Amino acid sequence: MHKDNQPLIFEMTKQGRVGYSLPELDVPVVDLTELLGQELVREEFAELPEVSELDIMRHYTALSKRNHGVDSGFYPLGSCTMKYNPKINESVARYSGFANIHPLQEESTVQGAMELMYDLQEHLKEITGMDEVTLQPAAGAHGEWTGLMMIRAFHEANGDFNRTKVIVPDSAHGTNPASATVAGFETVTVKSNEHGLVDLEDLKRVVGDDTAALMLTNPNTLGLFEEDILEMASIIHKVGGKLYYDGANLNAVMSKARPGDMGFDVVHLNLHKTFTGPHGGGGPGSGPVGVQADLIPYLPKPILIKTDEGFTFDYDRPESIGRVKPFYGNFGINVRAYTYIRTMGPDGLKKVTEYAVLNANYMMRRLSPHFDLPYDRHCKHEFVLSGRRQKKLGVRTLDMAKRLLDFGYHPPTIYFPLNVEEGMMIEPTETESKETLDDFIDAMIQIAREVEENPEIVQNAPHTTVINRLDETKAARKPVLRYQKPTDSE
Ligand SMILES: *Cc1c(COP(=O)(O)O)cnc(C)c1O
Repeated sequence: MHKDNQPLIFEMTKQGRVGYSLPELDVPVVDLTELLGQELVREEFAELPEVSELDIMRHYTALSKRNHGVDSGFYPLGSCTMKYNPKINESVARYSGFANIHPLQEESTVQGAMELMYDLQEHLKEITGMDEVTLQPAAGAHGEWTGLMMIRAFHEANGDFNRTKVIVPDSAHGTNPASATVAGFETVTVKSNEHGLVDLEDLKRVVGDDTAALMLTNPNTLGLFEEDILEMASIIHKVGGKLYYDGANLNAVMSKARPGDMGFDVVHLNLHKTFTGPHGGGGPGSGPVGVQADLIPYLPKPILIKTDEGFTFDYDRPESIGRVKPFYGNFGINVRAYTYIRTMGPDGLKKVTEYAVLNANYMMRRLSPHFDLPYDRHCKHEFVLSGRRQKKLGVRTLDMAKRLLDFGYHPPTIYFPLNVEEGMMIEPTETESKETLDDFIDAMIQIAREVEENPEIVQNAPHTTVINRLDETKAARKPVLRYQKPTDSE
């Protein structure tokens, strides 16, 4: 199964071989049984591999070469904004004054870190056009839930207990209906029209005095800007609902347009996408939430404030929805985002948006003769192609995504959004050169040609990876969490 004959680390084990050297113990030995109680202490040693330091280095280096990352290749995973993460962010995050502090330290000893967080909030207020921002939420979806809980608290404070519904367009990101459900609301779907935008007539049909909020992903997951946004805002506000802006994909509008100016009441941002926090594999994220003045009382507590004596956390917030995360957000990701904003400057951030949109439109136009383009209009940071033409020839979008691996690319997001048959959602980001975009386009065109001339090569792809097709259902349902020596029957 493994083409490169790389043994598993468990197969390399030699009894007694060690990969580390520790100094001699110079503190008293602690009896774990006494400390934890008998039932929590192992009776046998864990079966860990015994290998040398060199073996372990080679093991991890070999694994890393099998992986895809932004630093190793183009990664056009739609909606995920896999842009380059500048390495200066990493050096700043490792400054001792940021990396070696403890969240329970006296405030007077961490004023610099608090100033950075405060300043980041000020920048995000300016970028979004909102009145206040919290850095607590740890991810986009967490920000969505936090924002909805605040909207709920706002309605309840007004004695408005019947607002049970959150309206979500069918082109929204999947986390939107999920967050609304977790926040205790019922979701109502509003349809897209033939241009891929929210259908205003359908929206008017579903709003009412039970509307708590409309959640809008903008640009939507088709990569299209919702042009009727001002009218949508007025429809929702007229019935007393709130407007939630999913700003995870702010890469497309940053420094050009602000959710606050469009009439939105709440917005979340994904600092790990637009603002270059490294992400993927469930790593730490940061999903700050910005609100307009009337929602400020409900922000999660504490709030970071500036006083004459310096920066401090204000816990005296009787109407707050409470804490949503231990301490105050994922500080390391916030340091990276702050570094990014300061190194780019306002003009730099504007260029990011312009190039992100230019790159996506360039790719969309060059690829559209070869694949179906369901919504043929200017896109923002990403676009969606359909593989239905190839499907008629017996090749699915999944096959083409696998074939891209043979060219060394991470595939785009596939089968999303749900309203596109055999969808491929491509987001190049602004950090890629024209040469990289052209190489990827050439690979896609070659794959389209293969589908017509030699479909098996696509249907059986990938050919060059260590493992061919995974049984993805089995991988999800029965992940191997612990190595077991294969028995004879296997
Ligand atoms: C990525 C994304 C989210 C979810 O963000 P997480 O940090 O993964 O929770 C929400 N909405 C949109 C539009 C996104 O692209």
